[in-house]
Amino acid sequence: MNLEKKKIILVNKALVKLYGIPPRSEIPPDLVDMLIGTILSQNTNDRNSYKAFLKLKEKYKSWDYVAKQSLAKIESHIKIAGLGKQKSVAIKNFLISILNTHGKISLEHIKPMSDEQILRELTSYSGVGIKTAMCVLLFSLRRNVCPVDTHVHRTTNRIGLVKTKTPDKTSAILNRNMPEGIAHQFHTNLIRLGREICRPAAPNCSICPLLKICGFPDKNLSHNKSYKINNFMLLDSIR
Ligand code: SF4
Repeated sequence: MNLEKKKIILVNKALVKLYGIPPRSEIPPDLVDMLIGTILSQNTNDRNSYKAFLKLKEKYKSWDYVAKQSLAKIESHIKIAGLGKQKSVAIKNFLISILNTHGKISLEHIKPMSDEQILRELTSYSGVGIKTAMCVLLFSLRRNVCPVDTHVHRTTNRIGLVKTKTPDKTSAILNRNMPEGIAHQFHTNLIRLGREICRPAAPNCSICPLLKICGFPDKNLSHNKSYKINNFMLLDSIR
C-alpha cells in the first residue's frame, strides 16, 4: 500500500472516531434525481438546495414535465438555492439533451459502465462538472469515489493529503489513492470537519482530531471548545 493511501486511512480513522460512520439511505437514489440535486447544491447550503429540489419534485409529476417548462418558470421554483439562472439552464439543458439522445429522461444505461466511462458521458452535458458526475457515482451507484467540493478541497490541502490549486486536481489525486470501501465516510466526514471545525477562516485546531497529523502551518490554537453541529447532508437525503 502506498503512502498516500496510508495517510487517507489514518485521517479517515480519526474522523470516524469523532463523527462515526455516516448513515446512508438503504435504497440508492435515482440517478437523474441525484444529478439534478447536485446541480442545485452548487454554491449554496444543503438545506436551501434541498428545499429547491423538493419544490421541483412537488410541482411536477416527473422530470419530463420540468423539461417542458420555460427557463423563467424553473428559475422561479429554485431561486432559494441561488444562481437560479445558471442552474435552470444547466437543468433544462441536461433534461432536453438526455431526452433527445435516449428518447427518455433516464440514466439507467450508465449502470454497467466503468467509472471513467460514466465521468466522460456525464461531463459531456453542458453545466455538469466532475463533482456532479462523481456524486452520481458515489451516491446513486455506490462506487468508491470521493467527490471534491470546497470543504474537501480545503481540508485535504490543509491536512497535506494533496497540494493543489483546484478541486478537480484534488479529485484526481485523492481518487487515484482512495482505499476500498471508505469513500462515502471519508467524503461525508470531511464535509462536516470543513463546516464545523476546519472552517475557511480561523479553523478551530485546538479541538481538531487531526491536530497531530495535519500539516497546515497556520494552525489556530486559541482555546475555543465549542462548535455548531451542521450535519444535514443533501445528497444522503434525496429519495
Ligand atoms: S488541525 Fe486545524 S487546519 Fe488542520 S485539519 Fe484540523 S482544523 Fe484544519
